Amino acid sequence: MLDSYAVIGNPIAHSKSPLIHTAFAQQTNQALQYGAIWAPLDGFRKVVESFRQQGGKGLNVTVPFKLEAYQLATRLTGRASIAQAVNTLKFENDEILGDNTDGAGLVRDIECNLGISIADKRVLLMGAGGAARGVILPLLQQKPALLAIANRTAQKAQALQQQFSAHGDIAAGSFIHFSGTRFDLIINATSASLHDALPELPIDIFAHATLAYDMMYSHEPTRFLQFAQKNGARHMADGIGMLVEQAAESFFLWRSIRPQTKPVIAQLKSLI
Ligand code: NDP
Repeated sequence: MLDSYAVIGNPIAHSKSPLIHTAFAQQTNQALQYGAIWAPLDGFRKVVESFRQQGGKGLNVTVPFKLEAYQLATRLTGRASIAQAVNTLKFENDEILGDNTDGAGLVRDIECNLGISIADKRVLLMGAGGAARGVILPLLQQKPALLAIANRTAQKAQALQQQFSAHGDIAAGSFIHFSGTRFDLIINATSASLHDALPELPIDIFAHATLAYDMMYSHEPTRFLQFAQKNGARHMADGIGMLVEQAAESFFLWRSIRPQTKPVIAQLKSLI
């Protein structure tokens, strides 16, 4: 029987993870199967347990189950423990290992694929949900000159500021709070683009931006990327590279082999 993996979420039909992991498996000659599992909002734990009972080896976890996955894990990697969110589960004997590969995926996409160093840059992270939580520590580890977290609900940004205060200096507030502040990198980790919405951003924050990055991806540039370009950002990128890079990091955790990401990013871009 082939080793079995899947992505679990709600909704899940749109997920590109089966395509990505199947491409990784072919590229690295790994005998495995990878599917997509829909779980009811109140049934995550039960569905995971059933997958595990049937011999499943690992899961990618997506919206809205990353916090539940964190609670389900019996052991956590350091980065998942600090993020308090899990996007990768590995089942081994009686253990459920929880990891968070989102941040490593984002950093690798910005630094390796886009060729932009984060060190000494002034970074604005928009959003305070599961995705933002997963990338704060990996961003801080690159030693930016400033990391600011802006969120529609400012208290949530301030809560993250407190939670990560031992790992670096972080500024936090509402979007408008950062009007007049100069940023080099602006990363949209809100889910606004999923609904074709635009956070209420001050237009002046893009004036010096080298890169505007939207974790969301779509066929057309998102409203955020269009707005950023119009208001002065020099380079625009969507989240396809991050998606493939975080998947590669999960694949490495499961199979101890690092797949090549560039051909898979190109394949995905041609399909979206
Ligand atoms: P969550 O639901 O956990 O968080 C949503 C965040 O978006 C909150 O901060 C919320 O603010 C904010 N938000 C929602 N709507 C608006 C709006 N109209 N204006 C301003 N802010 C808004 O989602 P996740 O953090 O899990 O996911 C965020 C995005 O990141 C999604 O689009 C997801 O697809 C993407 N993602 C991409 C990945 C990739 O590999 N490319 C990996 C992981 C996530 P408030 O607190 O005020 O409600």
